[in-house]
Amino acid sequence: MKTIGILGSTGSIGTQSLDIMGWFPEDFRVEILTANDNAALLAEQTKRFSPRLIAIANEAKYAELKAMLPDYRGTILCGEEGLLAAAAEKTDMMIHGISGMAGLAPLLATLDAGNDVAFANKESLVTAGHLVMAKVKEKNIAFLPVDSEHSAVFQCLQGGRSGLKKLVLTASGGPFFNRTPEEMETITPEMALKHPTWNMGAKVTIDSSTMMNKGLEVIEAHWLFDCPYDRIDVLIQPQSVIHSMVCFEDGSFIGHLGKADMRIPIQYALTYPERRANPVEELDFAALGKIDFYAPKKEIFPLMTLAYEVGRAGGTLPAVMNAANETLVYKFLEKQISYKDIHRIVAETVENHDNIGDPSLAEILNAVEETKARLKGIGTDAH
Ligand code: NDP
Repeated sequence: MKTIGILGSTGSIGTQSLDIMGWFPEDFRVEILTANDNAALLAEQTKRFSPRLIAIANEAKYAELKAMLPDYRGTILCGEEGLLAAAAEKTDMMIHGISGMAGLAPLLATLDAGNDVAFANKESLVTAGHLVMAKVKEKNIAFLPVDSEHSAVFQCLQGGRSGLKKLVLTASGGPFFNRTPEEMETITPEMALKHPTWNMGAKVTIDSSTMMNKGLEVIEAHWLFDCPYDRIDVLIQPQSVIHSMVCFEDGSFIGHLGKADMRIPIQYALTYPERRANPVEELDFAALGKIDFYAPKKEIFPLMTLAYEVGRAGGTLPAVMNAANETLVYKFLEKQISYKDIHRIVAETVENHDNIGDPSLAEILNAVEETKARLKGIGTDAH
């Protein structure tokens, strides 16, 4: 029996992780759950899985949460401190499914506690990859990727890295990969939220449509697999059945294929190195018929190109790019800026930043706060 904590249990990664807990009640015991705002769902999950500790980051929701759980005997924490305390609880595996940079401090807290991690929160690796990976090494932590592309690469490398030439991260290309630059002028949140193959949270769905998500994943892959940027390629494959590939010096490619269902990579991180039968439908190749491939068009996805440049530059720049993107994606979702403004303003912000090499956590957080403050006032007049 493995004990499991889920940071961000009410999100897309969190709820799918709980599906897996429901499939294998003999193998996993849920001990810790956390959310930000969604007290109702956290309460429902608590009634079903009886964790020993839960935390809600938004303090204003504490009373509501407590009132919904009159018979609960476990611990209920709240606020930033409560979230960090929950992350620092000892557990066999902590699933990290918090979205955005809010995930960085809880990640560092759970690593400090020596917990193995099933890792989805790419933004924290993009923001502070050198600090996170140093801690993973220092504490000898199993840091297992949940993101489908990184899980795919991880699975493809189970035979070893000897002769590894490059990683090929695949991308669905989102809803806009075959559009012209002119057609990109009028994208609305409703259009960008319609992902053709994956069902994910709002922020990651918008990032998927701009392919900033792939750019962040390139940086994530750089850190996870200690791979230089010029050995990480991106290939659009709209059916989302090849989740990524590795290419070896002898011309061999090994790929990971399957249904576009996040529960496959989440489960692999939890049962690694074993595999278990589950209710996920098997991929039917004959019904699929074909798999298409396209190179991503730079003029449609400038944010991905920018992410490569920023990843190579390193220092505080990735944190600044990520903070700018995160702020602007939410402004776009709230219809305060246009779709094209996301790239324009992220690029300007990166351009104007005085980069700091090999930054400390304080320098990273400071750069992030400065970026957010600079962009705070940007809104409807830019639209
Ligand atoms: P969601 O938006 O669906 O869920 C986010 C979770 O984090 C929720 O539980 C939310 O709580 C919690 N949360 C949000 N902000 C805070 C905060 N400030 N403090 C504490 N908790 C917070 O996101 P996803 O599940 O889609 O994504 C999670 C991470 O996984 C992201 O980094 C994403 O890039 C990555 N990822 C997601 C994939 C997917 O298929 N969804 C695929 C690959 C990677 P509440 O519900 O209460 O707001």
